[in-house]
Amino acid sequence: MTFASLGLIDPLLNALDALDYKTPTPVQAQAIPAILAGRDLMAAAQTGTGKTAGFALPLLQRLTMEGPQVASNSVRALVLVPTRELAEQVYESFRAYGLHVPLRMHVAYGGVSINPQMMKLRKGLDVLVATPGRLLDLHRQNAVKFNQLQALVLDEADRMLDLGFSRELDAIFAVLPKQRQTLLFSATFSDVIRSLAGTMLSDPVSIEVSPRNTAAKSVKQWVVPADKKRKAELFMHLLKKKRWGQVLVFVKTRKGVDQLVDTLQAQGISADSIHGDKPQPARLRALDRFKAGEVQILVATDVAARGLDIDDLPQVVNFDLPIVAEDYIHRIGRTGRAGSTGEAVSLVAADEVQLLSAIETLTRKTLPRVEERGFEPEHRVPVTDAAGQVLKKPKKPKKQKFWPGKHG
Ligand code: AMP
Repeated sequence: MTFASLGLIDPLLNALDALDYKTPTPVQAQAIPAILAGRDLMAAAQTGTGKTAGFALPLLQRLTMEGPQVASNSVRALVLVPTRELAEQVYESFRAYGLHVPLRMHVAYGGVSINPQMMKLRKGLDVLVATPGRLLDLHRQNAVKFNQLQALVLDEADRMLDLGFSRELDAIFAVLPKQRQTLLFSATFSDVIRSLAGTMLSDPVSIEVSPRNTAAKSVKQWVVPADKKRKAELFMHLLKKKRWGQVLVFVKTRKGVDQLVDTLQAQGISADSIHGDKPQPARLRALDRFKAGEVQILVATDVAARGLDIDDLPQVVNFDLPIVAEDYIHRIGRTGRAGSTGEAVSLVAADEVQLLSAIETLTRKTLPRVEERGFEPEHRVPVTDAAGQVLKKPKKPKKQKFWPGKHG
């Protein structure tokens, strides 16, 4: 199958040629014709499957071929995403795919000045990629109008709801025209979100390119049981022993991220971080430096787990397991993308056993455990299985009380 056989126009095909995209990925093969035909869509596609082009290409085509010229402060296609990083990345994809079509596009997210975004909106935009909070700010200031809106995309829809954007989304939906094309993309779909989607979409085409809630097959995953206080030491040991190149490391808290970066830098290892406390320019800079290979280790909280597309990233390390099991799938989705293989290693301490069990239940897979010599934990991690069992250690026999009456 070719992109031309899906009915895409020449200016888009030329852009794809330049990017060396030869054949559509499965999600693209299904989504592109459906979106071109004007259908609503609900797509469950893992990260790295090419879903961005799956919605960007047909939208660019429809916006080019159909509909009126965009009016001042109006938007014809709105793409909502949960994080600033993802907003930049999706916007860059639209720009790359839309290089040869005469459409106006921009991106809007919080943490940076609103004025340049308002300026861009003044002439109207064919495509606006935005995070929900900033979009509402712009709307409150009358900088954006939706009467020309033809299409709405919710990318990482489940995450937007998980991240507590449901009130913002309700407020946005309330001001959007009811007549529109709605496309819902997500790596994971919980049953709650499926039923919510049911109320938002009209007669949607449903696409599921991989079984629900399974992690990418091309990612080799395993667990190294470890004592909490020795995780940093263990990480540096593995880094040297396994000769890892670039590694994306996930840590639970912002403080934990900073501590690990300090430890690594003290050892002369180049490391940078992404988390919610850092100003937006610093976050983007850290990501760019990592992508450019200038930094070996990028340490992040789950803010970085979704949607970031980093070419050829072979190694993801879960320094801490995620609190929400679905995040595990997103984290390890950073590797093994676009057909390459990857490894995801989780350092798991005894008090994370419930989190491990939740991940194994969700992915229906018991993760193999490999103890590292010299780092065998003092606090053993109880045995788990994919059926959600945590096989507890037998309780120590109680000491017999010789003076039962003594303490009352
Ligand atoms: P996404 O899942 O949209 O984040 O895309 C994952 C990666 O696959 C990105 O680096 C895209 O540039 C790349 N990609 C998307 N579609 C294709 C394709 N048809 N052929 C080759 N690479 C692709």
